[in-house]
Amino acid sequence: MSSLILIMGDQLSHGLSCLKEGDRDSDVILMAELRAETDIVNHHKKKIAFLFSAMRHFNAELRETGWRTDYIYLDDADNSQSFTGEIGRAIARHKPRRILLTSPSEYRVLAMAQGWARHFGLPVDIIDDDRFYCTPQSFSDWAQGRKQLRMEYFYRDLRRRTGILMNGTEPVGGEWNYDSENRAPPGKEMLIPAPARFHPDSITAEVITLVEQHFPDHYGDLHPFDFAVTSEQAKDVLHQFIDQRLAQFGRYQDAMLADEPFMYHAHISFYLNCGLLLASEAVEAALGAWQNNTAPLNAVEGFIRQIIGWREYVRGLYWLKMPDYREMNYLQATRALPDFFWTGRTEMSCVRHCLSATHKYAYAHHIQRLMVLGNFCLLAGIDPDEVNEWYLCVYADAFEWVDLPNVTGMILFADGGILASKPYAAGASYINRMSDYCRDCHFNPKQKSGPDACPFGYLYWAFLGRNEARLRGNPRLGMIYRSWDKMSEADRKQLLDRAEQFLNNTAPKKEERIQG
Ligand code: SF4
Repeated sequence: MSSLILIMGDQLSHGLSCLKEGDRDSDVILMAELRAETDIVNHHKKKIAFLFSAMRHFNAELRETGWRTDYIYLDDADNSQSFTGEIGRAIARHKPRRILLTSPSEYRVLAMAQGWARHFGLPVDIIDDDRFYCTPQSFSDWAQGRKQLRMEYFYRDLRRRTGILMNGTEPVGGEWNYDSENRAPPGKEMLIPAPARFHPDSITAEVITLVEQHFPDHYGDLHPFDFAVTSEQAKDVLHQFIDQRLAQFGRYQDAMLADEPFMYHAHISFYLNCGLLLASEAVEAALGAWQNNTAPLNAVEGFIRQIIGWREYVRGLYWLKMPDYREMNYLQATRALPDFFWTGRTEMSCVRHCLSATHKYAYAHHIQRLMVLGNFCLLAGIDPDEVNEWYLCVYADAFEWVDLPNVTGMILFADGGILASKPYAAGASYINRMSDYCRDCHFNPKQKSGPDACPFGYLYWAFLGRNEARLRGNPRLGMIYRSWDKMSEADRKQLLDRAEQFLNNTAPKKEERIQG
C-alpha cells in the first residue's frame, strides 16, 4: 500500500484533488466522525446529521467505485475522536508510505496537518483544493499592492480571467452588476415554490438516531430532516432552483417574509460548502438558464456574483489575513450575546422570526443573517468572538473560512474596513420596507420614543454615537453624522441612555438558556 488518503467532512467531491492524485489499486481512504470537530462549538443537530449522513453516503459511493476505505464511526469503541489519533491508528493498520490530503478549508486544521510529517515520521503531501476558481496564492497576487480589497474589483477581475458573462473584454449587458434591479421589497404577486425535500433513507435514519443519542444538548431542531445527502440529490436541489426560482431570485433577493423562510433563494450553500456540489456546476447551470432565456440577466448575474464573486473573495481574504483576522475587533465591541439568540424569546418580531427559522432549519437566507440578526449584533456591540461562534454553530453551511469574513468583516465591521467600505448598519425603516415582520411586532417601526419605539431606531443612533471616534471619518457616513450633529445634546443622550437600558435588559441570564 502506498498512500493513506484523508478526506474530511467538507471534501465530499468525487473529483477532489487527492483522489485524482491517489491510486485506487493501492491506496486506502480514511474518513472519520470526530468529537474533536463536532464539539468545537455547539453545532446545530441538523448540521451534524447532515454532514455525517453525507460522509457515510460518500463513503458508500467511493466503495462502489472501487476505492478501499477505512471509515471510522462516531460510536466505534476505539475511535480516539481526533484527526491525529485516527491517522495514527490507521497508519498502524495499513502501513502507508505517505499521507495524502487535499488542503483543509480551515487554518487550524491545516496547521495540524502540517505537523503530521514530524509527528508520524512519514511524508505528508497536502495538495491544492482545485474546486475553487481562485487559489489562495492567486488571491494574494491580486491583493498585492492594492490599498483596498473590494469584492467588486476582485469579481470583475475573475470574470475577465474566466470569461464568465463576458463579451470579449466587456461585461455582457454592459454592466458588471445589476444590484439596482435586485432590491424589490416583497410583493403581492409572489408565488414561491417549496424547496426540494428528501425523505431520510436508512443511512440518514441511523445518523439521526446517533445524533439524538450523542448530541441531545446541542442547538436546534433535528426533525424534520430533509436535506440532500448525496451529490445526485444536491444536483436536484440546484436544478429545481434554476427551473423554479432563479428568474425571481434577483429581484427579490433582499426581501423577507415571516411565513417564507426560503424565499427565492437557492439553498445550495450547504452542498457547495461540503463538496456535494461544485461551484462550476452552479455557475454553468445559471449560465444555461440565461442562454435559454428562462432567467433574466439581473438574476443570473446576481447569482453568479454570489458564487464567483462573494464566495471566492471571502475564501481568498480568509487565507490572506489568517490567523490575525480572527482576533480583530476594530469597534472594541465587548457585550455578551443575549440569551434570546439561543432561546428565540424576544419581542422583536424580525429577530424572533429569523431565530425561529434558524432553530428549525439550520438556515436563514443572507439578508436575514446580515440585515436582521447581524445588524442587531453590530448595533448592540456584541463581542465578535461570540457572534462568530453563534453563526458557526447554528448554520449548516457554516465553516470558518466562510463564516469569519462574513461575520467579522461584513456583519460587524470588526476588521475596520478591510472587507466592507462602511458598516452595514440599518434602523427600523429598512426592515419595515423589505419585510412584513413589523406587522405583528410588539414595537412600532415609526415610533422614535416611548416604550413602543422600535429598538433598531435608538440602537442605530447609539451605535453611531458610541463609535463616533472610529467612524466619523468614513466618507460614506458623512451625511448620517451630519444628522447626528443636528440633534440636541439632550436628544443624543436620551438615545444613548435608551439603548443602554434596552441592552442591559437583554444581558445573558445563563440559567434561562435553552439550547435544545
Ligand atoms: Fe423589527 Fe422594529 Fe419592525 Fe419590530 S418594529 S419587526 S423590532 S424592525
